[in-house]
Amino acid sequence: MLYSTYRPQTFKEVVGQENNILTLKEQCKTKKFDSAYLFAGHRGTGKTTIARILARTVCCEAPSENGPCNQCKNCRSILEGKTLDCIEMDAASHNSITDIKELIVSAQYMPTILPKKIYIIDEVHNLSAAAFDALLKTIEEPPEHCLFILCTTEMHKIPATIRSRCSIYQFRTISIDVICGRLSSVLTEMGKQYEDDAIKLIAKQADGSMRDALSITEKLMISCEKVTVEHVMKSLCLMDSEVALQIMRSIVNGDGRQAILLLQRICEEGKNLVQLVERILQCCTDGIVLSASSGTAALYNTKEYRDALYEIISSCQIEILFWYVEQFSILREKIRNSLNPYMDVLVYLIKCCNIKLPQSDTAVLLQRISVLEEKILNHECDSVHKEDSNKIELNDNIVNDSDDSFHTGSDMDENPFTVDTETFENEQAGLVPAQDVKEDTDDGIDDYILSLLGGHL
Ligand SMILES: [Zn+2]
Repeated sequence: MLYSTYRPQTFKEVVGQENNILTLKEQCKTKKFDSAYLFAGHRGTGKTTIARILARTVCCEAPSENGPCNQCKNCRSILEGKTLDCIEMDAASHNSITDIKELIVSAQYMPTILPKKIYIIDEVHNLSAAAFDALLKTIEEPPEHCLFILCTTEMHKIPATIRSRCSIYQFRTISIDVICGRLSSVLTEMGKQYEDDAIKLIAKQADGSMRDALSITEKLMISCEKVTVEHVMKSLCLMDSEVALQIMRSIVNGDGRQAILLLQRICEEGKNLVQLVERILQCCTDGIVLSASSGTAALYNTKEYRDALYEIISSCQIEILFWYVEQFSILREKIRNSLNPYMDVLVYLIKCCNIKLPQSDTAVLLQRISVLEEKILNHECDSVHKEDSNKIELNDNIVNDSDDSFHTGSDMDENPFTVDTETFENEQAGLVPAQDVKEDTDDGIDDYILSLLGGHL
């Protein structure tokens, strides 16, 4: 296995857990180790690897700052699995109180070869409540010659009593860049050719886990000469970004017909709809990143994808992109247990293509207001009040007011789109004289807005 072959053997070789390594190296220097460690974090982030390095460091005859020498007889006996003083237990399959009792009894005996007895308990969260209780006493007051290293992917399942007696190390998920760097060096060392975008894609799919990244790479290396984007896509049954981009384009253009045709084609090809929604969602979030950075942000995808997406979303307001993300996030949850995912996707695509339909969502309203603003600023209002030049002049003043209030965030009463209800009610009650000119103008704008919205105000 690639992951075993390239498993780091010293602290120096470990990538992506700098803070934890720094603390452990410090302990190596001073030779002061804790008696119980708890390593917690996402799968494939190096917990077991570092536990083994730590075990050897503690027992090594000539340890350095980087950990064990891996040459002395103690290191060799652990590496070759020839000693019973270093015990690795998988709590996923050994989780009963009997298993833990056996471990506790064996911990009472002195080590035979190594200076310490090391217990590495993997997936420790699987222990039963009774097993944890039994373990607690030993962890609390461990025999001088014992060292416990507990590893877990589910920290919240570890009882607080156990947690408080361990030295806790949180393992971060490994960044895409770090995974890419590692994959690149492994492939180069093995004399394999690869495309940069292909390893980026693998790193992204590995979801922060170096083990997953290496096992995906291993499968690909067996099946092809050169690791290419095409092979990764095929091997992992990934959907092409191109399809998601096409759908994204039809959504932004409000082209429901095209979106439906694309969806039908995807279904005919037997593609996974959950993955399609994930892809569209990714496009929307990438679109937000590009929009916020004026197209300069780096995405974990090809340059062609970035350029195409930026071109698609350039006419789209960021609020609308946020709204799309919201819609597709809801859809993603919805179709997981849906009996008819096709219909769900269809409905949401049509919904997103028709943002001019009456909606209460603020983002959509903002988009509509911005269209109106643009039209008004382009003096399209002129046609409404052609016959009265005085009113046009007044109209322009109001437009300027609205422009200021939108950009400076000043008092919203200045906004011509809001109705001054107090004045209106007073006028109705005859408390103040109605101002003919102003009233006419407001009515004119309201009529105009109504005509633009098709009566949906
Ligand atoms: Zn050694």
